[in-house]
Amino acid sequence: MPKYIFVAGGVMSSIGKGVATASIGKILEGKGFKVTAVKNDPYINVDAGTMNPVEHGEVFVTDDGTESDQDLGNYERFLDENLGSVNYATTGRVYLSVIERERNLEYNGRCVEVVPDIPNEVIRRIKAAGKKSRADFVLIEIGGTVGEYQNMLFLEAARMLKLQNPKDVLFILMGYLPIPEMVGEMKTKPTQNAVKMLNGAGIQPDIILGRSSQPLDEPRKRKISTFCNVDPKDVISATDAKSIYEVPLNYERENLSSRILSKFRMRPRKNNFKEWEKLIDTIHNATKPVKIGIIGKYFESGKFTLMDSYISVIESIKHAAWHYDRKPEITWLSAENYEENPKNLEELKEYDGIIIPGGFGSRGVEGKIKAIEYVRTNKIPFLGLCLGMQLATIEFARHACGLDKATSREFNPKTEQPVIDVMDEQKALINEKKFGGTMRLGAYDCELAVGTRAFEIYGNQKLISERHRHRYELNNDYRKTLEDCGLIMSGVNPEKNLVEIIELKNHPFFMASQFHPEFKSRPLRPHPLFREFIRCAAKQ
Ligand code: GLN
Repeated sequence: MPKYIFVAGGVMSSIGKGVATASIGKILEGKGFKVTAVKNDPYINVDAGTMNPVEHGEVFVTDDGTESDQDLGNYERFLDENLGSVNYATTGRVYLSVIERERNLEYNGRCVEVVPDIPNEVIRRIKAAGKKSRADFVLIEIGGTVGEYQNMLFLEAARMLKLQNPKDVLFILMGYLPIPEMVGEMKTKPTQNAVKMLNGAGIQPDIILGRSSQPLDEPRKRKISTFCNVDPKDVISATDAKSIYEVPLNYERENLSSRILSKFRMRPRKNNFKEWEKLIDTIHNATKPVKIGIIGKYFESGKFTLMDSYISVIESIKHAAWHYDRKPEITWLSAENYEENPKNLEELKEYDGIIIPGGFGSRGVEGKIKAIEYVRTNKIPFLGLCLGMQLATIEFARHACGLDKATSREFNPKTEQPVIDVMDEQKALINEKKFGGTMRLGAYDCELAVGTRAFEIYGNQKLISERHRHRYELNNDYRKTLEDCGLIMSGVNPEKNLVEIIELKNHPFFMASQFHPEFKSRPLRPHPLFREFIRCAAKQ
């Protein structure tokens, strides 16, 4: 039976619980244990797929096609493990399965109640995740903040699991310790209050992670210990880090893994952080920049710029840059600028490479097409991801094949030249308004054409598998025309004969994929497409 570690957050959201959970996983993995992680999100949405990225952040897609929360991306990147549906529960998901089971008479005619049936379903899922990956440790991150009405049932599940298995469950609370400018001192009260609220839910934290801009000093640790009922050694500094990948090592410096293991009366099986430490050295020491521009639109929220919508793309750029000892410098470029004034395109020259990531709807699309024309003709390395491939195809069709009305059916349902079109099965779903979880999702095979650059980049492999999330496809009716004009279709899905990768010759790097390579890049194993893109960009 695995050990279960719950991670909840106090004080406020966005204090990095996802990274904390992934980092705890990483340090336990470094001690020789198999770890998996589960995210419990309080919202009613059955998955993250229907949410606006500006509001929710990136939708991370797993191999099995789950449209999940971005934290699963962090778990995968830190633990280097492929996760799936069992690792992700929302209130909506949990209720849906309880209600479905009730409709199937699986509760033998008894009254089905919020407590205990909902927490029991949460527990069932947590156990299933542990079983699936044969984990020694299952980490469970509870979304939201303690004290919210929304996540009470997840806390209730945590409490019940501990009651059933007192020796196998541990609670970690992540608090925030502000240093208000007018006071100039680190304050512990918000964290104390969070612990009180957690106590109100019947849970006493075993360990407290104190998130702050500075390390917690002795008086602060003592105070938290006294008022929150934990050993001072179990008050761990979670100081702001330059890179999220440093966090596991910072925790280790505070002996977090040995505190956890001793509470479970376990001993480390090994001690292996070498490769990870080397990565952190590179992150600190790489000084030569590689400048990448990302042209997107899910950046702005009022006066703030959010990077969350493209987090996997950003991380993939970093992984590849570090692989070549480069310092990644990422700039957000707004597609709408190029629509207003094409002169603004000149700024693209300042970058070593340009990425156009995924996206939906027509806003900003014409600006992106202009940018692609610019990087194609000015020989600036270019990587297109999903929507990025569709737009690269449209640009090529318009300017290299003379199909000047070329577009995607997504932007103009009545277009005469749908070089990007929707498949019949998708048409039916759209007409019936069945939008949730119905895109082409998750892992699909892709056959690479021998002799192409893609084939070479993937190490001369013929068959690869990549993750998808889209409804529209390159229209096979235009394939021959596009090919005759010089567009190379270097990857094709063998079952459905759908184009997965396009590339151009006589260009330092011009490649785009219908799938999302960013979901499979790992810090120590950058994705081949990103790696080659960065290598070429670094040469600029
Ligand atoms: N909007 C496009 C489609 O649905 C691209 C999706 C994406 O970039 N993820 O096919």
